[in-house]
Amino acid sequence: MGLARSWAVALHGIDGHVVEIEADVGGGLPGVHMVGLPDAAVNESKDRVRAAVVNSGCTWPNERIVLALSPATLRKTGSAFDLALACAILATSEVVEQGALDGTVLMGELALDGRLRPIRGMLPRLLAARAAGMSRVVVPLSVLDEAALVPGIEVYGAASLSEVLGWLRQACSLSVPQPAAEASVSDPPDMADVIGQDDARHACEIAAAGGHHLLLVGPPGTGKTMLAKRFVGLLPRLDPEQALTLAVVRSVAGRLPAGEALSTYPPLVAPHHSTSMAALIGGGSGIAKPGAVSLAHGGVLFIDEAPEMGARLLDSLRTPLEEGEVRIARTEGTVHYPARFQLVLAANPCPCAPAHDRDCVCSSLVRRRYLGRLSGPLLDRVDLRARMFPVTALAATGESESTEVVRTRVLAARAAAQERWAGEGWRTNAEVPGPALRSRFALPGATLRPLDAGLRAGELTARGADRALRVAWTLADLAGRDLPDRELVETALFYRDRRAA
Ligand SMILES: [Zn+2]
Repeated sequence: MGLARSWAVALHGIDGHVVEIEADVGGGLPGVHMVGLPDAAVNESKDRVRAAVVNSGCTWPNERIVLALSPATLRKTGSAFDLALACAILATSEVVEQGALDGTVLMGELALDGRLRPIRGMLPRLLAARAAGMSRVVVPLSVLDEAALVPGIEVYGAASLSEVLGWLRQACSLSVPQPAAEASVSDPPDMADVIGQDDARHACEIAAAGGHHLLLVGPPGTGKTMLAKRFVGLLPRLDPEQALTLAVVRSVAGRLPAGEALSTYPPLVAPHHSTSMAALIGGGSGIAKPGAVSLAHGGVLFIDEAPEMGARLLDSLRTPLEEGEVRIARTEGTVHYPARFQLVLAANPCPCAPAHDRDCVCSSLVRRRYLGRLSGPLLDRVDLRARMFPVTALAATGESESTEVVRTRVLAARAAAQERWAGEGWRTNAEVPGPALRSRFALPGATLRPLDAGLRAGELTARGADRALRVAWTLADLAGRDLPDRELVETALFYRDRRAA
């Protein structure tokens, strides 16, 4: 009996860390001892691994087994280490050679009969294995397709422990990933389908051009959801780095479509207003899963009937809106997930939600309270508010512009903003900090006067004034101007006026 080593990858947030597993089998009372910060699921793997080894036709050493997972300071969670633990133990009795395990990462949960079960987060685990210089990886067959996204490392898929043992003894071969197919996402529906609603369409264009958050208010049937779904089509495609980050988040959430290439479409995530905190922000048992805010990274988080969502959930959006990431604290430590998204809120003007305002049975107090459920601090971060009205004439409104036409203007405006702030690394006007907005280019006093007036009258907060100025910059970019002027600042203020919504 003796000592053997194998390797697996632990997951912490969206980061993988290669873990070395040492198995020492020797004299002493029979039993399995595990050291190196294992959580309950890793500790339970003792029983799973033992059953899987015996049911795969191998002998379980009837001695004292010590399993050490290192680095010892890193918390190990989940069931991904089963396969590596089993192979390390079997290598001590030379069922497999240590030489076959060197440079190989083994990952997967074992069923009692020796089958390999899938685990979440395969993509970040493979990236970590490649970064650590490991030469080959064995994964459960059912998640092999995710492996196609990581070039530069040999990946094999196995269905059971006996297959892996056969492969390590060079007695059989394992499956290799198929080349990834083109992502099957279809283009989002077209803006031309939305009739009328010029204000709201314009607000969408400004929001897309500057990266601003948006609130649409209107009675049911005016096309709030329709417009929000088309909004995502106005945004630029993700760059390779953003696309990879989004794919990693989806992989950790267990939502990466199998066998597809990296999608460069910005995501549209629309959680229902009755969703849970864990589903919205992230959480759940075991490894904290990314929530809707992270699955919307690089794209749009759309919340329909936002006032119904409740203040606690809505206010939880404030941190990701400000910081572009979420932190989920656990006893195992805090995990970070990226969460830089554009927020689109939709609301009915009142709880009775009639098709026409004249049919409303709510008192003015009830109406005010309803939209008041969207808290001040949250609304302060929403730069654009647009009112939508029932369409009164189908014929008179003429044809609406297509996504293609609007998107061309949006991309041109984004390019202008990107060029202006290139030295600082800001990509959209929404990302520019307040002081830089005012001081980097000398804006004349007349331009800023409407903002000063708003501040003096208490109609604007300092943050609100900065946000209006960001929108004014976006309006200037859309109009092809070098600087915003007083008129554009007033237009920006019109779109953030709470009374308009
Ligand atoms: Zn009403």
